[in-house]
Amino acid sequence: MAAPKRKIITLECTECGERNYSTEKNTANDADRIEIIKFCPRCNKRTKHKETK
Ligand SMILES: [Zn+2]
Repeated sequence: MAAPKRKIITLECTECGERNYSTEKNTANDADRIEIIKFCPRCNKRTKHKETK
């Protein structure tokens, strides 16, 4: 069995552009750029965070 391909990604707030989180993703399961709702301390609310390039 092949080892899963894991990649460190940065999650950026889509409203203010702040890079608030870094995480790992499995590129086999998430080939496309992922989007997650997370709390942004700069916006002081929950916003959509998108994977940066
Ligand atoms: Zn923000």
